[in-house]
Amino acid sequence: MSKIVVLGGGESGIGAAILAKVKGHEVFLSDCNMISNQAKEQLTKYSIIFEEGGHNRENLMDAQLVVKSPGIPDTAPIVEELTEAQIPIISEIEFAGSYDKSKKICVTGSNGKTTTASIIYFLLKNAGLNVGLAGNIGESYAYQVATCNYDYYVLEISSFQLDGMYDFKADIAVLLNITPDHLDRYGNDMEKYIKAKFRITQNMSGEDCFIFCADDQISISHLNKIVLHAKQLPFSQQKEVEEGAYIKEEKMHVQYSNSEYQMFLNELSLQGKHNIYNSMAAAITGKVLNIENDVLRESLTTFKGVEHRLEKVLKVKDVLYINDSKATNVNSTWYALESITTPIIWIAGGTDKGNNYEPLFEMVREKVDTIICLGKDNSKLHSTFGTMVENIYDASSAQEAVEIAYKLSKKGDTVLLSPACASFDLFKNYEDRGNQFKEAVKNL
Ligand code: ADP
Repeated sequence: MSKIVVLGGGESGIGAAILAKVKGHEVFLSDCNMISNQAKEQLTKYSIIFEEGGHNRENLMDAQLVVKSPGIPDTAPIVEELTEAQIPIISEIEFAGSYDKSKKICVTGSNGKTTTASIIYFLLKNAGLNVGLAGNIGESYAYQVATCNYDYYVLEISSFQLDGMYDFKADIAVLLNITPDHLDRYGNDMEKYIKAKFRITQNMSGEDCFIFCADDQISISHLNKIVLHAKQLPFSQQKEVEEGAYIKEEKMHVQYSNSEYQMFLNELSLQGKHNIYNSMAAAITGKVLNIENDVLRESLTTFKGVEHRLEKVLKVKDVLYINDSKATNVNSTWYALESITTPIIWIAGGTDKGNNYEPLFEMVREKVDTIICLGKDNSKLHSTFGTMVENIYDASSAQEAVEIAYKLSKKGDTVLLSPACASFDLFKNYEDRGNQFKEAVKNL
């Protein structure tokens, strides 16, 4: 038995504390903010001692191991002190992985993680496998390892989780793409962020598979620099690949070993260029796991999509309203605009993370008539796009934005909430923003 300190009382911290307790360790959980009542109930149920509203050094410095929530940066004073004291600090995924013998399919990337992990989970379930879904989705991985017994896990893993991973090994790793995001946590150093993402491949052997996007220049140039033992399975919309997935004559082709799978792109339930990538990554995973083509087809044609990601809300007077509140960076908004073929009323804005909007210019000029800025400070959107579109308005609530859109819209338009920004200036989080938007649309 050793003393394990868990930093952070959110979803992953509570799960890590419970797992540590179940495995017979002495556990102490510490959070500098207040812990929710629901989390406290869980801690009490498992007799886990905790503190909130600050870190008491005495309780922490005798730990043999620290499990740190991905939300806490390495520059937090308490983390610096623990590092100085040479106490190992790992992430919840690393911790839970050390107790989990299942086959692990791990999905990372700047965009598309939740969508792709959810498609793969759906696929494995449809194939009748005993599979759990965890990571940044739903109940934490550690909690599930403590309380369930799965043969497979599909894990959505962020770069912050990867930062604290050392011995963990994925059986199948999926890297969807790498575009600038969260650079504030990496000292504005893109190279550091890229390296963090590539930790998904660490410890892999020739038996394991690495699925990646051959059209993503950043992934490819890093891949060319490193030694990777895993079998490489690329997916591409630009060129044919020998093994992996590619597009030819409006069809997705998947090739793995001696086995092949094909389907027409218009059969996919999730449309848009980005979702073709996500579906290709899922289809390769299915092939590697020997899932039958019928199950692949059934799954990729019926998958329902995930809330707040290009979610069709309603058609009102021949105008379609789409909730893409999860688009919190420029790249994801690019794919949203790309996927729409009608004129667009674009609701954008929020907390800008240092966005460079240039990649959107062409698409905005071509498709967007009106921008409705939904943020506390909309000056950057005005100065960037003001001369590019016919109309630009400000709104300070989702309801106001929807009402303006409703008044301005013409038959056949699409009203798209795809903010390219975080939501914290006007909303609790992106779910809150998306829910308020949907509520307002339903009330029209
Ligand atoms: P993540 O979990 O990585 O944040 P999500 O699946 O939640 O990704 O999607 C986040 C946003 O990115 C949504 O707006 C979604 O439509 C968009 N998106 C989904 N897949 C991709 C992709 N492969 N490339 C770019 N954007 C994507």
